[in-house]
Amino acid sequence: MPNSEIETFVVAALEAAGATVESLGYSLTDAVLPEPLASKLGVSALLRLTFDSEVAQENTDAVLVTYGHPLVDALVEHTLSERRGFQLYANLTPEVCMLGPDRALSLLNRSVSFRHARPPQFRSSQTLLASDLSIGFRVRYQSATRVEEFINVWMDAHGTVLCDAGPLYAQQPWTFRLPSQWAKVPFTTPDPVDQLLAKARVYAEGQASSRAQAIFASDRTQYASERARMVAYYEQTLKDLKNKLAAADDAHRDTLNGRYQAALADRDRRLADLDAAYTVHHEVSWDYLVWHISPRLLLSFTVQSRDRQLPIDVLYNPLTRTLQPPRCGQCGNPAQDLSWRRDAWIGACCLQDP
Ligand SMILES: [Zn+2]
Repeated sequence: MPNSEIETFVVAALEAAGATVESLGYSLTDAVLPEPLASKLGVSALLRLTFDSEVAQENTDAVLVTYGHPLVDALVEHTLSERRGFQLYANLTPEVCMLGPDRALSLLNRSVSFRHARPPQFRSSQTLLASDLSIGFRVRYQSATRVEEFINVWMDAHGTVLCDAGPLYAQQPWTFRLPSQWAKVPFTTPDPVDQLLAKARVYAEGQASSRAQAIFASDRTQYASERARMVAYYEQTLKDLKNKLAAADDAHRDTLNGRYQAALADRDRRLADLDAAYTVHHEVSWDYLVWHISPRLLLSFTVQSRDRQLPIDVLYNPLTRTLQPPRCGQCGNPAQDLSWRRDAWIGACCLQDP
């Protein structure tokens, strides 16, 4: 992870674990750790930390914490053992989250359609707190070159990958404590963390595989030239041996034959080694998990279909200023084209009859 992310992680993880953290300026932080935490992490209870090498040079009493530092590993381990990661809260004002009935209806009409129904009517709205996740994976690619990188997966609380939301979320001012204006707002329950992690890992593995292809592509030129050189060398060697064999007398023919076979075997072995050296392996390991908690507006509408008044709830996300599409009543996937079947809204995904 980039150093600024390490800083965010370390400071937040220390606070979440019960440390008192005080910023002394740019990339310089004092932390007072409870004794059990300090001994669990194997560090002193009083820490002065920096995440910047220049700041470290000016403050020789500060510990420079970078990628791979034992403190980062110990904090990751601690965070893992808590099975939750840590939480950040969006410090939004209630006004930013409000949405009038007209705007709510126009967003709904733009993103969801209802079959055999009259235009929806706005009923009510309620504020909730919902969690999204930022899950970091460390990926090691091993080939002729060795590369390490981070893959960060943004995901909602039900495991849907938020492809566009990441940069937008990263820009928000997040705080470590629940802002007072949201203290009485009810929480929505996320899916179990193990399930979310498993989904994030599948996504990260997919990303890593395509990255591995890209890394191999850049090594490919070097591979081709090494292989061509090797092939040319053995071609010449074998040709020379063949010429000698043609001119050799009986006494030398066996020796030359042996050398020819050995050169052939040598060539095959070295070409196989070269292939192996340029094969890309990758290994994905989980690094951190951050819950990003922010308000949502639960919008309730009524849709009239034939003679029935049917309810539909949709969540509005003030951070992205978008509606989260409702979920199909059968498979649970986001659905934008809904039909009422018996007692639920079903998406086009699960409708056999068109
Ligand atoms: Zn479905």
